[in-house]
Amino acid sequence: MTRQGPRDSRVATRPSMIILQPTCLCNLDCTYCYLPGRKSKNEMSLPVARAIAEGINPDWVESAPLELVWHGGEPLAIDPTLFEELLKSFIPLHNAGLVYHVIQTNATLITDEWCELFLKHDIDVGVSLDGPATLNHNRVDWRGKPALTRIMDGIAKLTEHDINFSVIAVIDQTAIDSIHQILDFLATLGPPSIALNLEEREGVNPHHGSPSLHEARTLWRDVFAWAGRNRSIRIREDDRLLSYLAAPPSTAAADVPHDPLPTVAWNGNVILLSPELLGIKPARYADFMAGNRFFEHGVLSTTETHHCHITTQALVTGFFDLTETASKDSMTLLEKLVTTKSSTLLALINPYRNPDNDVAPALK
Ligand code: SF4
Repeated sequence: MTRQGPRDSRVATRPSMIILQPTCLCNLDCTYCYLPGRKSKNEMSLPVARAIAEGINPDWVESAPLELVWHGGEPLAIDPTLFEELLKSFIPLHNAGLVYHVIQTNATLITDEWCELFLKHDIDVGVSLDGPATLNHNRVDWRGKPALTRIMDGIAKLTEHDINFSVIAVIDQTAIDSIHQILDFLATLGPPSIALNLEEREGVNPHHGSPSLHEARTLWRDVFAWAGRNRSIRIREDDRLLSYLAAPPSTAAADVPHDPLPTVAWNGNVILLSPELLGIKPARYADFMAGNRFFEHGVLSTTETHHCHITTQALVTGFFDLTETASKDSMTLLEKLVTTKSSTLLALINPYRNPDNDVAPALK
């Protein structure tokens, strides 16, 4: 018999995305990496992949297919033949339009064989890259050698095979003043979208180059300014805020449930709400871990984090700084504008917004 406790309405009952870890092995040793066990050649087995596929409930899929994100370690560190075997469990779901695949890679191991596999299985590709050489300095291999040349070789392979790819960049304190240079460089690679992850304190990351609240606010202001001039490339975080602002008040409420964001490790372990907790086992919480508040405070009972300050609050205040409506209390201003949906709000956001990207009403 399955015992069920009271359901927490702050967490949605169906995910929109599942993160899968085909291996925790990685050929790189980025200075900010949060993942333990990156030297271990642990690989997902076929029974684990089969169990994940069987556990996907078709009722979870409403308007869009479920996103299956193959993440690592470095997912391309496993043999492509094994990866294709893992994919086979999902073929019926994929053919029925219930799931689609995304692979997030450091690009250094991309070969013709991998490209053919991406095309054959209709896999979207995301490349992790922080900027041009001087600004990609955190992405190094185990000998401390810069990875950029190998990343660019991998990108060249994708281009040869006519494979589009998006980019995720990690931004630390040293990159704040160079954000336009970073975005200009990434734009030359032709991605339709760029995501910016501000470095945060998590996992085994010893780097601690997380921007301050003030730096983050300046950063987001500058990112919105760049995006306003380069509207063919979408910035994930900008879209997130503008979609939230454009959504009807009923769906833009602050209490829209969190996506549970299940992450399934190579061995079948599951973590909810924060992939960064994979492999982390503090004595205090034993095997039960959820949420991403742990690394800053060492407990899960806190309600506010530096991560929230720099990725959500600074995103809002940075945008209003740009539109010159910032006040000491931009969050209150935002609340007022969102609940009234005034023409003032739409006039502010429309120069930056692409309605095709209005996907996520929740600003979290
Ligand atoms: S950030 Fe990604 S590419 Fe870099 S070491 Fe960690 S798993 Fe590998």
